Amino acid sequence: MPRTIALIVAAGRGHRVGGALPKQYQSIGARSVLRCTLEQFSGHPAIEAVQVVIAASDRVLYDAQTAGLVLRPAAVGGPTRQRSVLNGLEALTDDPPAIVVIHDAVRPLVSPSIISRTVDAVACRLVDGAVACLPVTDTLKRIEGERIAGTVDRQGLWRAQTPQAFRFEPLLAAHRAAAGLGDSEDTALTDDVTVAERAGLEIAMVEGEERNFKITTADDLERARREAAPRPETRIGTGFDVHAFGPGDSVTLAGITIPHVRGLVGHSDADVALHALTDALLGAIAAGDIGLHFPPSDPQWRGVASERFLRHAVSLVAHEGGRIVNVDLTLICEQPRIGPYREQMRARIAGILGITPSRVGIKATTTEKLGFTGRSEGIAVQAVASVEMPVSRESS
Ligand code: MG
Repeated sequence: MPRTIALIVAAGRGHRVGGALPKQYQSIGARSVLRCTLEQFSGHPAIEAVQVVIAASDRVLYDAQTAGLVLRPAAVGGPTRQRSVLNGLEALTDDPPAIVVIHDAVRPLVSPSIISRTVDAVACRLVDGAVACLPVTDTLKRIEGERIAGTVDRQGLWRAQTPQAFRFEPLLAAHRAAAGLGDSEDTALTDDVTVAERAGLEIAMVEGEERNFKITTADDLERARREAAPRPETRIGTGFDVHAFGPGDSVTLAGITIPHVRGLVGHSDADVALHALTDALLGAIAAGDIGLHFPPSDPQWRGVASERFLRHAVSLVAHEGGRIVNVDLTLICEQPRIGPYREQMRARIAGILGITPSRVGIKATTTEKLGFTGRSEGIAVQAVASVEMPVSRESS
């Protein structure tokens, strides 16, 4: 793969979004627009390094928002986008890359695949550049004054986005030549393909994405926030546990003490139901098992109420941003009878989990006198839990 550097243009001062900060420094979710964009490029396997062009007055903001990212030292922009890009290109001339891929900082929802398509087109085809484009789907009207003056044939018309990838040397030459002609706010070229076209470079089109839209207005910023928001997904975890009967006059099951002719043997209070449920919750967030968090070899858990283990699993789920949707337990034993305690158990578990009892299932069954549960040597419990987790699109 030819050496490729991303050049992110973040020097704009667009005022249409409103707010105290330039739009690239405003937040969408937990990160700024700029940081979302930079992370897409700095994490991309085809990109060796990222060069950003910023406004000199944004230096403090920029440093704060890019903490922890590995980036080339930022270049300072010029009075127009075209000049800002040229400054960014000049910053790369010490050790020029083969390909430069230019992207607007204010298109934060750029996908890894659109970056790949654009870079690959230049790396693998006999063209000087490639631009992500979308077809025009609306009917186009030419307006004069406030009246329709005609309909524009949209055949062959496309909307150019960024990323735009180019062979570095010809693009640098094209930009230097364009700068030599002089530019003002009015005459400056609005994208790099326009600069390249003027220099006679051959540019290919690759497929753009609607999601890769440019944030120009406050509505666009809201749309980016909506689209970047994590989507919930449902996770399932299962748990299974067994404890043997031993000396005693009661058992603790699902946090309820039930009189019985024997007790359950275990390091803690041997609440086999809460142990299985704890494992189900840990399983739903792939956080290991109860023995990992509370080793049986550790004397501090001797005789402890198993509610403590379950509360720990609940806090881990909450820490991951998860929400417990429902849990369901099957208690497998000949004795004691579970039915009379079912509602108490549901209420107890619901209280610990912070959900309503309608989301807690308790079922009891026997094994028809077969096996260790059938011989009343112990109790087995299986549990299942479903948890809704926020997942960002990038990590999904
Ligand atoms: Mg256990």
